[in-house]
Amino acid sequence: MNILFFGPNGSGKGTQGAILKDKYNTAHIESGAIFRDNIKGGTELGAQAKAYIDKGDLVPDEITIPMILDRLQKDDCKGGWLLDGFPRNKNQAIKLDEALKEAGMKLDIVIEILLDREIAKNRIMGRRLCANDPNHPNNIYIDVIKPDGDKCRVCGGELSMRTDDQDEDAIGKRHGIYYDADTGTLASAYYFKDLAAKEGSIKYIELDGKPSVTDVTAELVSKL
Ligand code: AMP
Repeated sequence: MNILFFGPNGSGKGTQGAILKDKYNTAHIESGAIFRDNIKGGTELGAQAKAYIDKGDLVPDEITIPMILDRLQKDDCKGGWLLDGFPRNKNQAIKLDEALKEAGMKLDIVIEILLDREIAKNRIMGRRLCANDPNHPNNIYIDVIKPDGDKCRVCGGELSMRTDDQDEDAIGKRHGIYYDADTGTLASAYYFKDLAAKEGSIKYIELDGKPSVTDVTAELVSKL
């Protein structure tokens, strides 16, 4: 199963993505996490990406597109993949579509979580990152995934905040890119929505991101 997952930062995309990944046993490819791993590991790619990420800007397409297209060729993607955080603009969507066709890879499902910008912003500022597993959901503003004191609610691991999660200007910039339906992330989601309407084999699923995590999951599962 090959899946694209869209949703503004703070919409619960990571949480729902982890559930999907387990259901279909796909590789979970999170562009933001790849960059963060590279920054942590002190790689050249990390050094190139850090300044953009800290400001809430997109890392340039010349760096990001080949990084993701190469990742899709890795062995663990043969059984399916879930792309989260890519494509992020219309150009990335077009390039991804071209690359999939060229590689003979079929896109099965596209998911879009719909959520108001203001709600998404508050959720971002409350989220905490587990040192053991970035897919352990923790958010001080969402009851069902509230951390256990100052530790991860899943494994008790240390929690930290992403620096770009506490910077309102950076959040505003990231959301500006996401909600831009002309050239930004919504434009790339709509690119695949149009494609799904033309090519009956792609399923496009819209989810209301406002309810609780469990309710969003239930809606997701019922629509798959
Ligand atoms: P995320 O974890 O998805 O919020 O991504 C964190 C940051 O990584 C973003 O604010 C961007 O700076 C960068 N990034 C992630 N995915 C992409 C992408 N597809 N294109 C360009 N930059 C990206």
